[in-house]
Amino acid sequence: MQDPAATRPGRVCFVGAGPGAADLLTVRAVERLRDADVIVHDALVPARLLDDVNPHAERVPVERCRDQGLDPGSATGRLLVRLAMEGRNVVRVKGGDPTVFGRLAEELEPVRQAGLAVEFVPGVTAAVAAAAAAGVPLTSRADASIVSILTGREADDKDSVVDFARLAKLQGTLVVYMAVEQVARWSAGLLAAGKDPETPVTIVSRCSWPDERIEATTLGTCAADVERGGWRSPAVVIVGASAPPSGPLAGRLVVVTRPAGQEGDLVAAIRAAGGQTLHVPLVAIGEPPAWRPLDEAIRAASTYDWIVFASVNGVRAFGARLAALRLDGRILGTARLAAIGPATRRQLELAGYRCDLTPAVARSEGLAAELAAGCRRGRFLLIRASRGREELRLGLEALGHHVDEVVAYESRSRSALDADEAEAVVRLPVDWIVLTSPSIATAAVQLFGERMRHWRIASISPVTTAALEPHGLRPAVEADRATAAGIVEAICRHDQGAAGVLPPAGSPMAAHLPPTSRG
Ligand code: SAH
Repeated sequence: MQDPAATRPGRVCFVGAGPGAADLLTVRAVERLRDADVIVHDALVPARLLDDVNPHAERVPVERCRDQGLDPGSATGRLLVRLAMEGRNVVRVKGGDPTVFGRLAEELEPVRQAGLAVEFVPGVTAAVAAAAAAGVPLTSRADASIVSILTGREADDKDSVVDFARLAKLQGTLVVYMAVEQVARWSAGLLAAGKDPETPVTIVSRCSWPDERIEATTLGTCAADVERGGWRSPAVVIVGASAPPSGPLAGRLVVVTRPAGQEGDLVAAIRAAGGQTLHVPLVAIGEPPAWRPLDEAIRAASTYDWIVFASVNGVRAFGARLAALRLDGRILGTARLAAIGPATRRQLELAGYRCDLTPAVARSEGLAAELAAGCRRGRFLLIRASRGREELRLGLEALGHHVDEVVAYESRSRSALDADEAEAVVRLPVDWIVLTSPSIATAAVQLFGERMRHWRIASISPVTTAALEPHGLRPAVEADRATAAGIVEAICRHDQGAAGVLPPAGSPMAAHLPPTSRG
């Protein structure tokens, strides 16, 4: 490094990132990540999570090395030393908690030897994240006063170091990490040691991720369940506790199609109602063809009466360009800010702005009327997607206002599913698919084809419903309010209204099909 002040070595901080969801990061973890000059991470920490917390720090990925012969831990440790010696603040971020199955001892050794300052920030480890997601207690006064955490994966060429005979006798709960690859081996070990095959077991895969899956089973059948179910890593298995799914959407699997990074609200609302989700984003958000129009609009921001954000992405892109231009919120002057819906409003607030208006009805039509209410011959700047709708501009212009529109991001329909997604929608018993915009609805028809006729469709709005019509599809429900909560309410109402008479998952919804497609 050129800076002479930088010859003083930086610090190394081991940070637990939790199981993957951004809101399971601790406040301290967020602070350390924000202060980092360089972030050393592995595959368990989603890139998106780091993007949100600190998009500026250099990132160094460390491949997880399964080769027992090498010592990837100490190689990573030496890397941390090298980076800190450059005078940089180094954060070594690990999935879950850094002290649990994280090769911490090996990574720490060179750091301590180099005499560097070290700090540890705990994280939510997979065992407790999974227990919470499944709603099962890990201890109980009656029959579980010990919790054991063990690895399910051991090198094939050495005898098991896990003492199954002793584990099987413990009055407690076992949480198996790295659980799926060798489930036959460890479950057989416990059974052979006399553990009851009827012992309740909970499998939790990709806990807190958009495709989290939870299943209650037993020790005797869990190996066969895992084999059959194609469970994806990372997964833990809790032995000794399970709970039947509960809530109005218990046992329902809902396909969520929102773009990556925007599925959070919907996924959370579905899970809160007891449902499970499969996230298959159908449109991808990317950069617009050119930044110039947005950049110019940002520089002229203070000349507008209103700046209107049509989506969360618009707010994100606006903020990113503001930073790229080395500007900040002062450039907005007295311009007022409007958001088309509550999620967009929240994104503005997260970025430190106050939102002056969110229309009562989260649709372009409602927004035009409300915006125009207190304003004559106003100047409006609309921040929108490449495929946004025209109603708002037309509505405002009809009322005599001046409107400039800039494209802040491009939304492109995906042209194909990847192999995992294609396999998952065939293998898993999908009940519902949620469609949250006309372009997503069209993409769903293209990518899922006939399968759409076997799933119940939940549409977020009349325009989304209209996009399905040309394809002879009708949603089973349409949300009253165009929000995540609104759509989940509609689904719950439908399923509860039809309680007991629901056709099994995967059977055609004849009632919702036009005559030509029955068969
Ligand atoms: N330090 C991590 C564990 C790393 S070992 C922690 O404290 O959680 C990797 C194992 O952790 C995986 O094989 C899996 O068993 C578990 N794991 C990590 N993240 C998980 C997640 N989101 N869902 C389920 N299991 C997870």
